[in-house]
Amino acid sequence: MKKLDKETTAKAHNANLTGSIELIGGNIIQPFGEVPTSKVAKKKPKRKSVAKLKKEAWDLFSKYIRLRDCLRTTGCSSFGLCITCGKRYHIKLLQAGHFVPGRHGLNLFNERGVHAQCYHCNLHLKGNTLVYRRKIIELYGEGADEEIEATARVVKQYKPLELEEFIVDLKAKIKAIEATGYDAFESELLDNPQIRKEYDALKPKYDKIKEQLKEME
Ligand SMILES: [Zn+2]
Repeated sequence: MKKLDKETTAKAHNANLTGSIELIGGNIIQPFGEVPTSKVAKKKPKRKSVAKLKKEAWDLFSKYIRLRDCLRTTGCSSFGLCITCGKRYHIKLLQAGHFVPGRHGLNLFNERGVHAQCYHCNLHLKGNTLVYRRKIIELYGEGADEEIEATARVVKQYKPLELEEFIVDLKAKIKAIEATGYDAFESELLDNPQIRKEYDALKPKYDKIKEQLKEME
């Protein structure tokens, strides 16, 4: 009897479900040409959040810094030397590493305080700060390290419009660098068996690190 009861209950349940579906189906049918007013109400284009704009600006800033340093250190837009260990890496294997750790305030987008750096120096050696300081002084002169440290302490709240303008500016800078005709030089470098070997050997290793970092985010 208990089994039968269960079956009866199940049937009743299914019947209920079917009924509901029909009911819902009946409800969503609209007369031809009529659309609920809530769906036609014009939506204002949503402004991106500061966090989103900051992320977009950072991705472009990182690209700009790495391109700048590749050109500065090798004369080629796709290979550059790490600011601290001086080893040569493909641009995709380089990061934009801060001299003063942290992505706060004015430190985040300080061109003098961010340079192309390898994963090892940036992450494992936490920026390799002792060597980084020496390099900053070499590049920008005595006292530049302290200036950057002072700037890094400035609290800054970014406004959406400001970030939008910064993004436009960065895109223009990147375009200008990419249009400098270094591409021929680049393929010449990749044709070099030693460089190709280095690049091929390192790429899977850093792809793995990149994946791990993404998982940690
Ligand atoms: Zn390095």
